[in-house]
Amino acid sequence: MDATVKHYLDQYGISEATRRFLAKPQKMFIGGQWVDGSEGEVSAVTEPSTQGLLTSIPLATTTDLDRAVAAARYQFDHGEWRRLKPLERERLMHRLADLIEANADELAEIESIDMGKSVSQARDVDIQGTIDTLRYFAGWASKLHGRTVEPSLPGNYLAYTRKEPIGVVAAIVPWNFPLQTMAWKLAAALAVGCTAVIKPAELTSLSTLRFAELVQEAGIPDGVINIITGHGHVIGAAMASHPGIDKVTFTGSTPVGREVGHTAVENIKRVTLELGGKSPVLVLEDADIPAAAQAVANGVFFNSGQVCDAGTRAYIHRSIYDRFLTALADYTSTLKIAPGLDRECFISPLVSARQKDSVLSYIDAGVREGATLYYGGRPQQEEGFFVEPTIFAHCRNDMRIVQEEIFGPVLVTAPFDTVEEAIELANDSPFGLAAAIYSNDLARVHTLIPQLHAGSVYVNAHSTIDPALPFGGFKDSGFGKDLGPEQLDHLMETKTVWITLPS
Ligand code: NAD
Repeated sequence: MDATVKHYLDQYGISEATRRFLAKPQKMFIGGQWVDGSEGEVSAVTEPSTQGLLTSIPLATTTDLDRAVAAARYQFDHGEWRRLKPLERERLMHRLADLIEANADELAEIESIDMGKSVSQARDVDIQGTIDTLRYFAGWASKLHGRTVEPSLPGNYLAYTRKEPIGVVAAIVPWNFPLQTMAWKLAAALAVGCTAVIKPAELTSLSTLRFAELVQEAGIPDGVINIITGHGHVIGAAMASHPGIDKVTFTGSTPVGREVGHTAVENIKRVTLELGGKSPVLVLEDADIPAAAQAVANGVFFNSGQVCDAGTRAYIHRSIYDRFLTALADYTSTLKIAPGLDRECFISPLVSARQKDSVLSYIDAGVREGATLYYGGRPQQEEGFFVEPTIFAHCRNDMRIVQEEIFGPVLVTAPFDTVEEAIELANDSPFGLAAAIYSNDLARVHTLIPQLHAGSVYVNAHSTIDPALPFGGFKDSGFGKDLGPEQLDHLMETKTVWITLPS
């Protein structure tokens, strides 16, 4: 850790537990052992608000991946996990959730320092979401069953189906909600009796490594959960074709997801893809302007816009367009831009220099394409990967800033005259992750919901996510669902059994 990061941590104050964790050399977790990468290589981890050196993580090789898969495979084929009684698996998952709860403040600090995000949001959303997801799926372990069916075939048979765990699940995780997204993938897999190999994003592996210590403390058998850290193009790509892996569950960008999906299908692996988004927001003329403006701003600027289902395209009825933009800008100006450890911060730094450069280049492109830069648009502070929340007005749907995922605090807006036009604009996108409508005319809202090509539709809200409800996209936003009972089906095989009975 360099002096700038030390100064930052001292300035805001962090717990002794977090200090101890950050001072340790980081290792991967394979088959219950803490190991370095087989070639001893490491990758530096940068703290986003100071750009200082935080620590380093091991870089796994494909040999390390083979070891992790072998550990998960052995546990699945010969170990105790799958054979545990469902209530015992449930109890272990609750024990893990209890440990996360007991160490929640530390995990939130680690997430904030590693990824840059607001520590308060990390505690309330990321860590709470992780706990809730584990508890929700823990309950499912004892509620999985097949069906008994009366066949019409001549003869006398007992026919039924069995639900069986799919096997070894590989989870490839992005950097925007590191621990929570990992939990979305892992919890359902554990509940059904699968084992897992997890690859966090190279930029944000630390909370998952701390989580692995809690996995061990909870008494989850060795090999059930294995964590390897390293480059996506090395480890992630090898996961998609690895013969010891039965299912790949990927969350990340659409271009990488397309590659992972292609490789997985070529190797006849089950695959779930949770990909990018460019979610539209419709503000109808009867919307409560101050409340809707606040919700729209929160829905796009939360986590500094690094949210897959962020409401990034707002189509606003022409009769309220100017008033709505004023309300948006007024509210946005109250959002505090600060380092993640500042408990009042809303807009934290972006995750990396690359992400900051990419977002700023989109802002330049928007100006060049003729959109009106209505609010913000500049980098903030000399140090750190900060970008001001930014609002564009009078955008056209053919602009890059409207069609492409920016993944930063940038909202594009345009007026519309009729709801038919608004629906057309909303659906004119390769993505289909989510959409939102602001209106109190519920009859009209109900007619619009079926017309939106999106996996989730929020009404007078944004990104309301709960483990009991499925989350996942239409179109280029991917396929398969995380969360809800729907996810369980993607992690189990259905076996049909026929037994001939005496006539
Ligand atoms: P990314 O695609 O660059 O990386 C995601 C993961 O894939 C990382 O772990 C990375 O190491 C790995 N990876 C990189 N190259 C790989 C390859 N060739 N083969 C296999 N794995 C590889 O995405 P990101 O920048 O980490 O995350 C941001 C993206 O994730 C955005 O597009 C966002 O919309 C999307 N996302 C989607 C959801 C959702 O639920 N739909 C949720 C969060 C983020």
